[in-house]
This record gives sequence, C-alpha cells and structure tokens, in this order.
Amino acid sequence: MSLPQQLLAGFSRFRENHNPRTEAMFSRLFVEGQKPKFLIVGCCDSRVDPAIIFDCSPGELFVIRNVANLVPPNEERVGHHGTTAALEYGVRNLGVEHIVVLGHEHCGGIQTLMQGGVNNPDSFIDDWMRLVDSARLSVENDYADATAEEQLRACEQRAILVSLANLLTFPWIAQRAAEGTLQLHGWYLDIKHSQLLGHNPDTDSFEPL
Ligand SMILES: [Zn+2]
Repeated sequence: MSLPQQLLAGFSRFRENHNPRTEAMFSRLFVEGQKPKFLIVGCCDSRVDPAIIFDCSPGELFVIRNVANLVPPNEERVGHHGTTAALEYGVRNLGVEHIVVLGHEHCGGIQTLMQGGVNNPDSFIDDWMRLVDSARLSVENDYADATAEEQLRACEQRAILVSLANLLTFPWIAQRAAEGTLQLHGWYLDIKHSQLLGHNPDTDSFEPL
C-alpha cells in the first residue's frame, strides 16, 4: 500500500514543532474541552482554509466546510443532515457567539450553478447546489448584461445571503439572534485583492472590513 508521504511528513513536523507552550495548550483543550466563540461555515475549496485565513489556533474556530459554504433551511428529518447537525452542535452544545458564512471568489460550486449544470438527478452536488438556485435566478435577472465573471461574483455573494436567511429558520438560532447572544455575519473572501468583505444590512452590499 502506498501511503501519502507528504501527509506523514507533515504530521512528523507537527509533532516536532510541539513545544511546552503548544503541549500545554493541547492538554488544556482536551482536559477542559473546547469553547470556541466562532463558528465558520466555509467552502471545501483547498485554498480557503478558515484557520489559515484568520490565523487561528486549535480551539478557536468551530468549522463546518461543505461545497460552496451553504446552509440548508430547517427541513424534515429525512436523510442525513451533516451541516445542520454541526450547526446544532456549535450553537446548542458549544454556545458559539458568532456564525460567519464565509464565501469566496471563484467558487467551483457556484460556478457549476451559474453554468446551469444542476439538473443531473445522479449528482449529489447538483442536488446540494439547488439550495441557492434562487441566488442564480436573481443574478440572471438583475445582472443580465454583466460579464460571466461579474455574475459569478454576484451569485457567490447572494448565496451567502440565502444561507444567512436559512440560519434564521432554526428556532435555536433565531432565538439567540433575537436575544443578542448570537451574531450572524456574511463575509466574502476576495482572493485576488486579498480583501475580506462583509455584508452590510443597511446598504445591502458587501463592503471591506
Ligand atoms: Zn467554494
């Protein structure tokens, strides 16, 4: 059996780099348990690892990653709801104080959606991306004369808003948001310009943070 040596070498470096400070941090985290303040819904894309982007240490971020950083709405309990189960754990068990839906530029999932390729009944991705088909339809309507690149960016951002709205369909999120103990954020990573944009509900636009 051929093992992925790159990963094994990485683990060796990880172990060697442990110093008394990181050892203490890990033992504290595993003895006392995790208490992250931030829950990030990010994309599986290999270029947008939230822990690297936000320069965070173990224990600081509770991260859910899926194709195109989507949040499904509160639905009937059929099938297996990985994203929803992780959300529930982060909010109800860990008591996170912030949820960030982190979208990004050149998202492959949104690209598939915009190219009209979400009609394959045999594709789990197509079924998943249909969650934000309303974003595609609104972009095609509002940005009819825009370039494909501009439409993609607009859809990546509108999909974040669909996910933010879906978050509020869960009573245990809506209640905490209304009480002010949980804040919801829609952020967009502009990789090309190394910029982080945040959705401003007052202007309904994404602005540099
Ligand atoms: Zn993506």
